Amino acid sequence: MDFELNEEQKMFQTMVRDFVDNEIAPHAAEWDETEKFPYDVVKMMAEVGLYGLHLPEEYGGSGDDISYVLAVEEISRGSAGLGSSYVTTMSLAMTPIMMNGTDEQKARYIPMVVGGATASFGLTEAMAGSDVANLDTKYERDGDDFILNGTKIFITNGSEADFIVTFATSDKSLGYKGISAFIIDKDTPGFSVGKREKKMGQHPASATELIFDNCRVPARNLLGQEGRGFAIALQAIDTCRVCVAAQGVGIAQAAYDAAVAYAKERKQFGVEIARHQGIQFMIADMAVDLDAARLLTYRAAWQVQTTGKVSAKEPAMAKLFASEAAHRICHKAIQIHGGYGYTREFPVERYYRDQRIIEIYEGTSEMQRWTIARQITSTK
Ligand SMILES: Cc1cc2nc3c(=O)[nH]c(=O)nc-3n(C[C@H](O)[C@H](O)[C@H](O)COP(=O)(O)OP(=O)(O)OC[C@H]3O[C@@H](n4cnc5c(N)ncnc54)[C@H](O)[C@@H]3O)c2cc1C
Repeated sequence: MDFELNEEQKMFQTMVRDFVDNEIAPHAAEWDETEKFPYDVVKMMAEVGLYGLHLPEEYGGSGDDISYVLAVEEISRGSAGLGSSYVTTMSLAMTPIMMNGTDEQKARYIPMVVGGATASFGLTEAMAGSDVANLDTKYERDGDDFILNGTKIFITNGSEADFIVTFATSDKSLGYKGISAFIIDKDTPGFSVGKREKKMGQHPASATELIFDNCRVPARNLLGQEGRGFAIALQAIDTCRVCVAAQGVGIAQAAYDAAVAYAKERKQFGVEIARHQGIQFMIADMAVDLDAARLLTYRAAWQVQTTGKVSAKEPAMAKLFASEAAHRICHKAIQIHGGYGYTREFPVERYYRDQRIIEIYEGTSEMQRWTIARQITSTK
């Protein structure tokens, strides 16, 4: 067994860490206040190769899953909102294309993303949240095109996406077997972006409605075979859970670093608060949670890298634990900061707000527990 990153991965981690410390972390509070998407920084990220990491080499990527997870962790440490946008493009939108796209689709969309394009994954609807197969967005064939009608909600990168991977049903009575996947270019007639949500955190990443009103999609934009859309969506969600876990690790690391630094500085009762046992115990619990979250996350990433397959259980375990550990760590980080932790003078209140959604999107914690238990108790 080897718990160490290899030399190449360590060098890569140092490079991303420096990039995040110089170009992302110093601006995160401002992006949080203004809710602006940092197009200029995304361009720089593409220039240093961060938008190619796990994408296939023949299309300009570098095909390395572990480096990709390390990048998600570091970017999320600097700005969880930017991390969320990055993961949505790189995993949620690109996994369906990498695994199911035609040569033509791969040749068009993968180089776009390697160059810094942003993409969305539009699955959720008003009546299809945890119950993802319960879609109302409909499609029908019309000659060489498909016509889509319906509305998606809460879609990350909705305002910025250059293209969207979305899902619709030909006939709701067919259940998941009626669902197909499509790629929609942002200028497709009949497609528009609706309401942008006012969110608790992760402000640089938009979450919007996507509206399909007789949206005419060329048949060449069908992704995979008709009727396989549900399997394609699940494949993307399972893959992305490793990255949501890495987001949790990144946010937790930021909160932990801030709390330890503060505890060593702040004096009460004549000594640094880090010397009070109540604070020491919190720091110890944070360190254990952080390590355990990271180990589960790296194991799930290693499994993908070594087997080329994504299982349902390990990514769900990593996502569940890392997101809830991040919650506990961010909570304690505010506690250690006392009243100052509740103000915007310190970043820990932002980490707390940014963390909360990772227990909800990509499947709530309840859905992760369901997935894990089903794998364990299934008799098939
Ligand atoms: C900021 C943000 C970004 C998002 N980005 C995207 C995106 O890019 N693409 C996309 O498609 N979606 C996205 N989503 C949607 C997200 O994935 C859903 O909100 C999430 O899956 C939960 O669905 P819901 O909100 O409808 O909650 P519901 O499914 O209504 O759940 C409500 C509560 O009931 C519980 N529950 C439901 N069913 C069960 C059950 N069987 N057993 C036990 N408990 C249950 C849930 O765990 C939860 O606690 C985003 C959401 C937000 C807020």
